[in-house]
Amino acid sequence: MRGTNRRTTVLSVLVVATLVLSAGCIGLSERSLPDGLAGYAGDPDNPYGDRNITVAVTATDSERSFAPLVADAADYWETRGERYLNYSVNVTFVANESDPDIRVSFVPRIDRCGEVESAAGCAPEITSPSQTGETVGVRALDNLSANSTVRVLEHEFGHALGLGHGDPPRELMATHTTLTSLPKPNASERALAWNDSTLSVFVTDDVSAAEREGIDHALDYYDRGAEGHVPKNVSFRVVSRFENADVVIRPAERSPCGPGAGSCGSVFGSDSDGDGALETYTRLEIVYSGLDADAVGWHVARWLALGFGIENESAYPPVLRETTGHDERRGDWWR
Ligand SMILES: [Zn+2]
Repeated sequence: MRGTNRRTTVLSVLVVATLVLSAGCIGLSERSLPDGLAGYAGDPDNPYGDRNITVAVTATDSERSFAPLVADAADYWETRGERYLNYSVNVTFVANESDPDIRVSFVPRIDRCGEVESAAGCAPEITSPSQTGETVGVRALDNLSANSTVRVLEHEFGHALGLGHGDPPRELMATHTTLTSLPKPNASERALAWNDSTLSVFVTDDVSAAEREGIDHALDYYDRGAEGHVPKNVSFRVVSRFENADVVIRPAERSPCGPGAGSCGSVFGSDSDGDGALETYTRLEIVYSGLDADAVGWHVARWLALGFGIENESAYPPVLRETTGHDERRGDWWR
């Protein structure tokens, strides 16, 4: 075994930032305006009239300062209103307790926004003065990075100021974008980098009986805690389908790890904070090639460690270190 050939596929979180909640658009005829707005003589393109648009900010998480991020998003529209909205936007920030035109709320979750589940932001599409009599609610997740928070707010303000999906600026008003969260601990810093402590294992059926015996010893060894190197609650469940298995173990005719390499492992997962390191693992693949059948268990055990954040040689259980001798690897190392 040599080299680790560790691939980490980054699956950035694709969060939907959207939504059109406008119901029953009434248009701009005088008759359809509510009483309070009768005689309204402002810019017909501006559903808020010519007045300053007042914005208040509330957050469940009181530790984080969101106001500068909201101000950045408001700036975006103050400089581009004429171009994309046909009216100029002037935003004034007001106290939370007041009766603002728009209230921006930062929340830990947005389970539903119209027809979209798990959105990053949500706002109604405001196209008529009849919709601005009451405070317009804009929501955004409170755990996004600063850049992504501003990005989501710019999009949601776009809706609150009258734009729909696909309207220019098209990139901003697209339904999907790639966002990053606030920094999260990396997999190697977590007690367990998987979402569930029971890992499903798929072993391909071209494994010989002797190899399979060794693989079972390796799994048992981790089931028992790998001499204190993995959390006690970790267990394995062998499954018959490749698709959703957490761990895949398979032999290969030719090593995918480079010539001479007896085995290799790769972890895959998500990097939602975009720092280039995975936070959680969704798959561990272990491949071996050209090994004696009675050495397969040891190699598999060595690579299982990768799935538990063991990366430095000194962090491995002593029996799984590279210094383990030829005979010992083929012996009862798991006992
Ligand atoms: Zn949207």
